[in-house]
Amino acid sequence: MPKYIIALDQGTSSSRSILVDTQGQIVHITQKEITQFYPESGYVEHDATEIWETQISTLQQLLLERSIKPSDVAGIGITNQRETCLLWNKKTGEPLSRAIVWQDRRTADFCDQLTQSAHQKYIQSQTGLVIDAYFSASKIKWLLEHTPGVDELLEAGNLCAGTIDSWLIYKLTGNHFTDPSNASRTMLYNINTHAWDQQLLEIFNIPLSILPEVKASNANFGHINTAIIGSPIPVLAVLGDQQASLFGQLCFTSGSVKNTYGTGCFMLMNTGTSRIKSVSGLISTIAWQLDGEQPVYALEGSVFIAGAAIQWLRDGLKLIDDSPDSEFYAMKVEESSGVYVVPAFTGLGAPYWDMYARGGIFGLERSTEKSHLIRATLESLAYQSADVLRCMIKDSALQLDSIRVDGGASVNNLLMQFQADILNTKVVRPQYTESTALGVAFLAGLTLGFWSKESLIASSANDTTFEPQMSKNERTQRLHGWQKAVSRCKDWLDHD
Ligand code: ADP
Repeated sequence: MPKYIIALDQGTSSSRSILVDTQGQIVHITQKEITQFYPESGYVEHDATEIWETQISTLQQLLLERSIKPSDVAGIGITNQRETCLLWNKKTGEPLSRAIVWQDRRTADFCDQLTQSAHQKYIQSQTGLVIDAYFSASKIKWLLEHTPGVDELLEAGNLCAGTIDSWLIYKLTGNHFTDPSNASRTMLYNINTHAWDQQLLEIFNIPLSILPEVKASNANFGHINTAIIGSPIPVLAVLGDQQASLFGQLCFTSGSVKNTYGTGCFMLMNTGTSRIKSVSGLISTIAWQLDGEQPVYALEGSVFIAGAAIQWLRDGLKLIDDSPDSEFYAMKVEESSGVYVVPAFTGLGAPYWDMYARGGIFGLERSTEKSHLIRATLESLAYQSADVLRCMIKDSALQLDSIRVDGGASVNNLLMQFQADILNTKVVRPQYTESTALGVAFLAGLTLGFWSKESLIASSANDTTFEPQMSKNERTQRLHGWQKAVSRCKDWLDHD
């Protein structure tokens, strides 16, 4: 009997392979960094061949290091950086250029024009997205306009476009497929009709024939070429990274929320089979669609500067030597003593949406110490997350029982306790914060019958729960202070 599932986790900074056993436990991880290319201001690119080669070599290394026979692997799941996309030659399997990464801003002007155009309403209502260079459509359009040789390939029926999941599926199995969680990030997929949308394709001037077929997130995506590791293992699950993390956090019911504290924060709320139209500027996306079932939707919001504010304490202000030091210093004082740090370094996102805002530090007195500043910076991650969460609750009218957390900064106990206090909601941190890789492994294992959703929930016993302890009075006071600080940062830059 095969004993393992392998999750391939292709992220922005690295490719990783994760071995998961039939108990849903991580057994081994291998990882290789990938090169970031910044050829011009605002451009961010990846070498698609490097993505493929690092992904495969971590897979081979994983088996070697644990002496696992390929026949012991029952299935593969793929989770990936979202929105990043490329074109390739269907015949040769060679990329036609570098992949344009989600962070790339080269199509920002085009997107601004689109926002002002008559198409704006249609795009937003059919895709659930806010028009932005972040999503794949304008990037694919750019690639079609700037890559030599695409017309000939298109005419011959040999041109493929896709996001990173699609690229990896193609290289592994020869199939040109994707899943709804990734398709819903392209701005070409209609999340109401669950298909590529002809009108959207026309707006972006993208031919349907170059796009992958959209399969269920737990479909059989094909068997991997035996030349890769000597065994035709099936690819059984595909999810974009944030949706995979929602699944890995076992947020299966409507109203359940996960927040990932990385460089930024990514918050997703499962809204069930109904799509919520946000009035707060959040996006609606497909969380997953299981075979034969209705798609499950999510509301998504993000905080631009979260762990990055801790990096600023380290690299910019040189107040700490490394990120975990932030907890040590913050613990030296009982509270931030009226100090607020608003890390609006690149403007403010939901619910303020002010690109002219800039950061500020407020409430300084002669008694203010370094520790207050550090504590206030940590607290800013919690305040910003609370701002986004308030939008989600308002938009969805769903009640919140707890939030589940992961990501690098979620190991910070002081921050997690403050998050629970300021939200007046339980904060639950699972034993493993590798929820992205686990999510896609859990999905593959569901299909294989390794476990059920219920048994996964039952076995997630080693969670740490932070219970809210702050009085209502204090919470109200602190939130009021935060709102005041934010209001001082708004509209800071001069503009027309
Ligand atoms: P990403 O996936 O965005 O690279 P990670 O999930 O690896 O992010 O988390 C890294 C971020 O978490 C960094 O911004 C770092 O400053 C922050 N971080 C890591 N450990 C801690 C900690 N103990 N306390 C606060 N922030 C932390």
